[in-house]
Amino acid sequence: MTSDVREAPALTAPLPTRFTRECAAFATINGDAWTERLFTGGRWLEGPTYFPAGRFLVFSDIPNDRLLRWDETSNVVSVFRSPANFANGHTRDRCGRLVSCEHGERRVVRTEHDGRVCVLADRYAGRRLNSPNDIVERSDGSLWFTDPSYGIDSDYEGHKAIPEQDGCFVYRLDPVTGELAVVADDFVRPNGLAFSGDETTLYIADTGERHIRTFAVTEAGLVGGAVLCECAEGSFDGLRIDDEGRIWAAAHDGVHCISPEGELLGRLLIPEVVSNLTFGGSQRNQLFITATSTLYSVRVNVTGIG
Ligand code: MG
Repeated sequence: MTSDVREAPALTAPLPTRFTRECAAFATINGDAWTERLFTGGRWLEGPTYFPAGRFLVFSDIPNDRLLRWDETSNVVSVFRSPANFANGHTRDRCGRLVSCEHGERRVVRTEHDGRVCVLADRYAGRRLNSPNDIVERSDGSLWFTDPSYGIDSDYEGHKAIPEQDGCFVYRLDPVTGELAVVADDFVRPNGLAFSGDETTLYIADTGERHIRTFAVTEAGLVGGAVLCECAEGSFDGLRIDDEGRIWAAAHDGVHCISPEGELLGRLLIPEVVSNLTFGGSQRNQLFITATSTLYSVRVNVTGIG
């Protein structure tokens, strides 16, 4: 007897890894035959950040107002912090501390080694930030973050409020003075950002414009800002760079791999809208991907920059 009713696969079932190759330069890129689902059941996962010393990954479940922690040694996911002020993107700083963008308190905070949480930035020109989204550190200790209004547009992933800033800016936080400076003020919705390996280039996604822009990093600030590439599916969110200088960008059909010249090389297809990603594991060759409800992982033959 035949039936057209099929059982839904278990959510933990591995998923065949699917790369699409748009360019010959992507032909050598490969990975596990199976993409793992390490966790599912979130509402909008974001901010995956790997801690090699502890062999765990912290990530956000923004609408559920919690940070989760995947333990590499046990494969268990537990609650790291809740409530979490609707935290979104994070980075691990040079001292191994968690630095977080919080929608709820509209600020950037750092979790010290002793567990205290200290505020690094919450205002510019005397007015509250919108809702910091994603953040990276440069080797000089400066922190660079984007401040779109997603966390105050509604109560879904923060608290609805009227913006106090005149736009959605990109900021640099000085490591010595703690002073905040606007480094880019012409974005619609600045979002993911990443430095090239030599830190002379900063890539910033504008989700509102569905593209990535590229800036030269100089003593005087950011120069340039040309559009590097348009998103081939949906819009861009989080970005990471591999040690060949390629950009790995969150998009609606998966992770797009883009050359430093802006050419779409190929994609790693993921069955949910991707928000962000990071290279982790002891050799930085394990991609962790937050995509809507699920944390995916696949080991690849590419290494993220250190
Ligand atoms: Mg983001």
